[in-house]
Amino acid sequence: MTSRLTDEELERLLADPQQRHNPLLPALEELLKRDREQRERLERLLRISDCSYDMARSQTDDLLHQYDRQLRRLEKITRISDRYQRSLLELNEQLKKAALRDPLTGLANRRLLMERLGDELERCRRGGAPFSLVMLDADHFKRINDAFGHDAGDRVLCMLADTVCRQLRGYDLCARWGGEEFMLLLPETGLEQATGMVERVMQAVRSLTLEGDRQIPLSVSAGLTSYLPDEHVDLTINRADGALLQAKHNGRDRLLVVPH
Ligand code: GH3
Ligand code: MG
Ligand code: MG
Repeated sequence: MTSRLTDEELERLLADPQQRHNPLLPALEELLKRDREQRERLERLLRISDCSYDMARSQTDDLLHQYDRQLRRLEKITRISDRYQRSLLELNEQLKKAALRDPLTGLANRRLLMERLGDELERCRRGGAPFSLVMLDADHFKRINDAFGHDAGDRVLCMLADTVCRQLRGYDLCARWGGEEFMLLLPETGLEQATGMVERVMQAVRSLTLEGDRQIPLSVSAGLTSYLPDEHVDLTINRADGALLQAKHNGRDRLLVVPH
């Protein structure tokens, strides 16, 4: 087994006086010199390579760290944006609802009524049974305001709306047409059935009592008609309105039915 000679041993061998005239001596000295230079160069290269490896590694660590931070930031932003989007959707829903409701009574407004009328017209076009329309107006409501004040008048209007709704079925619609005037949309309801319903509504209104059991002299007049197949819905509305006017002329607190 041969063991490697150290530099010192090699130098010692080359410096041996007995080898002074060896013809290979200059070549061996040159080889030893080159070998030393090569090794030094190699070590330098290794040091440089170690250094760049360390730098590359620390840069990669930095980048990973930054990436993690950005990811966490992005997740946070996504969570906030999700929450924001959810509350926007809720707000949108609330706005949509508010846009279709009368703020005082909570009843459907004209817009919602016209939407529901559109649905009913579509149902009739597909062969469904016609609907009935009722125009209701509180009698002498000005006197209620004059006697009890405008705020009490507001409360009476709310009670009136509530009383009317209680007499209706789930699929009927009571809308505030304006002021102290209401429109009832009674789907798949003929005049006879609608007449019974309106009479029950009128009776319930007559028995309304204010807070403290104070009786209010309240009644409503009503005009009732049914949708005629293929007519423009404005004609149906005008007929109900005309019937209401006639009911007022005839002395109020009454229902007038106009079939066509
Ligand atoms: P008629 O029997 O002819 O319908 O008599 P009326 O007094 O009910 O009708 P008129 O059109 O002369 O007056 C309507 C009254 O309804 C006057 C108005 O101040 C009142 N009114 C309309 N909207 C509201 C409301 O939101 N709140 C209150 N408190 N009063 C209202
Ligand atoms: Mg009135
Ligand atoms: Mg009126």
